[in-house]
Amino acid sequence: MPTTAIHASRILTPDEEISDGVIVVEGSRIAAIGHRDEMRLPPGAVDYVATGMTVIPGFVDVHIHGAGGHDVMEGDARALDRITATVARHGTTSIVATTVTAPVEDTCRSLQGIAQYIRAHENAEPGHLAAEILGVHLEGPFISKARRGVHPPDALAKPSVATFGKLIEAADGLVKIVTVAPELPGALELIAAAVAAKIVGAIGHTDADYDQARAAIHAGARHAVHMYNAMRPFEHRDPGVVGAILTDPEVTAEVIADLVHVAGPAIQVLIGTKGFDTVLLVSDGIAATGMPDGKYRLGNFEVSVKDGVARNSEGKLAGSTLTLDRALRNVVALGVPLQDAVRMATVLPARRLGLAGKKGIIAVGADADLVALTPDLRVSGVMTRGAGLA
Ligand SMILES: [Zn+2]
Repeated sequence: MPTTAIHASRILTPDEEISDGVIVVEGSRIAAIGHRDEMRLPPGAVDYVATGMTVIPGFVDVHIHGAGGHDVMEGDARALDRITATVARHGTTSIVATTVTAPVEDTCRSLQGIAQYIRAHENAEPGHLAAEILGVHLEGPFISKARRGVHPPDALAKPSVATFGKLIEAADGLVKIVTVAPELPGALELIAAAVAAKIVGAIGHTDADYDQARAAIHAGARHAVHMYNAMRPFEHRDPGVVGAILTDPEVTAEVIADLVHVAGPAIQVLIGTKGFDTVLLVSDGIAATGMPDGKYRLGNFEVSVKDGVARNSEGKLAGSTLTLDRALRNVVALGVPLQDAVRMATVLPARRLGLAGKKGIIAVGADADLVALTPDLRVSGVMTRGAGLA
């Protein structure tokens, strides 16, 4: 088994900071970590010296549709290889493949392909740089017509435990998150079914008022999809779904920190209100991520990308071309301490997925998913489950 010793000026685990640290990687896992003076390095270890660098865990993106010219709903190995390789270059080492609303049969076909791909890669050491697909996020069809964003209206569906079961089966049990609009009939039953199946019930694409959102949280919803976007807005006498999310410490909230989807001060309000422990950085990235401007597909429809901003034919924002390294720099520029910003893109999403100790953390036994950052927070090297960096 190849052994690598990574020497870094600073390591953010990210719950702790270690200066002059060493991470020992054996195969695909982290075998040891500590201060240089306290470590006995295994004989024959290959040294990787990251002088002046900060090494952090790889980013965990719970909301991403595609990258590198491909969409996860293509569902084939070529597309998924390309997506996972593209985001890995930006430091994202795990993703939750996110569907966009489409007819149920089409979604099932995509889910079967994604599930096959995940099963073929699980427990395998990648041998090359590639993010791991941890499962599926169903963004639709159980969402509000009024707040659908670019999701095609014809394919939206009322929350149905039976349809949900069909989607879970097509995904071979690999659904991790389901987005639901709490105000729709059947939403609370669907959230309860998700919780029973150990799937994260997420509030999103919703016109819910405060009480409807509270009812969803009471039913077990613990996550909010792209905070502010595709949500009924906050009003001081009608705080709505935004008010419910901002004031509940059990609910994690995604934010697309590209400074296009959400203005900087609104991100500051979100973090200032909820604190550093419940805000997750996501990309909502689409096929155009890592590609030049042009026309791309998102699920079953076309989007145009100009200056890196993706819109549908009506001019509505249609996902992003954000990568989490850029999101990290953006929130740090807004005044978030680096260590907290790193947590928002690593350990916190991993915990939300129930993967504490395995993903998004530099700890003994965790997957060796690592990113070396320059002092100006650019990605200078990436390791995915032991591959890369050297
Ligand atoms: Zn999305």
